[in-house]
Amino acid sequence: MTETPLAIYPGSFDPFTLGHLDLVSRGLAVFDRLVVAVVNNPQKTSLFTAEERVEMIRETLDFNPRVEVEAFDGLLIQYVRSKGAKVILRGLRAVSDFEYEFQMAQMNRHLEPGIETFFMMTGQNFFYLNSRLVKEVARLGGSVQGLVPDNVLLRLNTKFSRQG
Ligand code: ADP
Repeated sequence: MTETPLAIYPGSFDPFTLGHLDLVSRGLAVFDRLVVAVVNNPQKTSLFTAEERVEMIRETLDFNPRVEVEAFDGLLIQYVRSKGAKVILRGLRAVSDFEYEFQMAQMNRHLEPGIETFFMMTGQNFFYLNSRLVKEVARLGGSVQGLVPDNVLLRLNTKFSRQG
């Protein structure tokens, strides 16, 4: 059996939530190293720039030497290859995730059969937690404490009070 010490965990992370953090923590119990890969897609509007997202995740993970955080653009599978990795890590929440995740995994398998997508089920407290809802609630002035790391909470508050 070949070893799979490195996994790539890609996503928008706009912003990084405690659900993402839970997945990273559990992922590190399976893989020696993780790369949290922040999608930089200029066609998609995001609340935080890719640089801001990378910065926030690095702060949250306290610069853990087993985790690398960087932005990437273009095709995921090319990026994964460029890192020399064989595994893509993704999280699964409620049923709504399945269809999209399976489509992506199948397409990636078609593009590169040597790279596997590894799914981990969400921590049970984070089943319905997603970045879109966090942004909506924060934008409307609701509290997202307990849903995102403290440094992300601060950034959200700053962003919305500045805009408000
Ligand atoms: P994308 O835009 O690629 O869907 P997200 O930032 O929403 O990116 O999520 C990145 C990955 O993290 C996805 O695999 C998603 O299923 C997973 N994820 C998101 N929220 C949670 C959560 N609350 N618990 C576990 N996994 C999650």
